[in-house]
Amino acid sequence: MKLLHSGKVREVYEDRGDIVLVASDRISVYDVVLPTPIPDKGKVLTRLSLWWFERLGDIVPNHVISATDVPPEFAGRAVRCRRLDMVPVECIARGYLAGLGLREYQASGAVSGIGLPPGLVEGSRLPEPIFTPTTKAPLGQHDEFITIDDVTAGQGEETAAELRRITLEVYRRGADLAASRGVIIADTKLEFGRAPDGTLVLADEVLTSDSSRFWPADEWEPGRPQHAFDKQFVRDWAAGTGWDKKEPGPEIPADVVEATRARYIEAYERITGETW
Ligand code: ATP
Ligand code: MG
Repeated sequence: MKLLHSGKVREVYEDRGDIVLVASDRISVYDVVLPTPIPDKGKVLTRLSLWWFERLGDIVPNHVISATDVPPEFAGRAVRCRRLDMVPVECIARGYLAGLGLREYQASGAVSGIGLPPGLVEGSRLPEPIFTPTTKAPLGQHDEFITIDDVTAGQGEETAAELRRITLEVYRRGADLAASRGVIIADTKLEFGRAPDGTLVLADEVLTSDSSRFWPADEWEPGRPQHAFDKQFVRDWAAGTGWDKKEPGPEIPADVVEATRARYIEAYERITGETW
């Protein structure tokens, strides 16, 4: 297979005209990839993404061709997908305020041009989920919030409306299901592409903790940074080492690796109701 792209935690290959997305066991914390892998992380997130794709088909078609027709060395953590003409917008839905959305709200009282009520704090639940698209910035640059009017200007009115509608529907479906199982999906990022016949297709990965913020519902407490369902052990431990959050990151000790692996599996089991 021909390597097209190597991201922080995934590789993208081209094969027989398809693309093959391969999830690694790498973990990034504060945007830095740590040198120690988390065993099975790639498989857990791949399976979770496939589980969701199967349950979203009535909202939007997806790019999955096969999770088994992949090279044996990537078995379980690779997905063969239709190669699409990607829409250059990161389609983000937010139900809670965190990350860049929080910073934008604090600076302007709005996110992606959507005005929000005053008095919201870090981790606040929004009155209703909002569509906060960003640009897909080239490597090394930061994504920037754009308004629905910007999406309309770039993609046309019909596409912009579809991206917004589908993104919010997928988020609601995912967040409602996860909430019933004790996991808050605070926000999520979707990517779409066009099939040759022009159909909008859901691509990339969907509703995983690498593309979304997962919080344990029983620890949710607005007004402070929320605990990340999967990465909290690593973050807490990293903060305790005095690491400056710059490259290179520190090696993760075995007990933190094991606790983190268990958290990925717990999130998978809670959401899907299946045993890993
Ligand atoms: P980061 O490491 O910050 O996530 P990244 O988003 O560039 O960087 P990956 O997420 O690892 O890296 O790469 C996945 C890439 O594959 C993205 O550029 C995504 O847009 C692209 N992609 C996903 N699905 C498809 C598809 N069906 N057809 C074509 N490209 C796709
Ligand atoms: Mg990506």
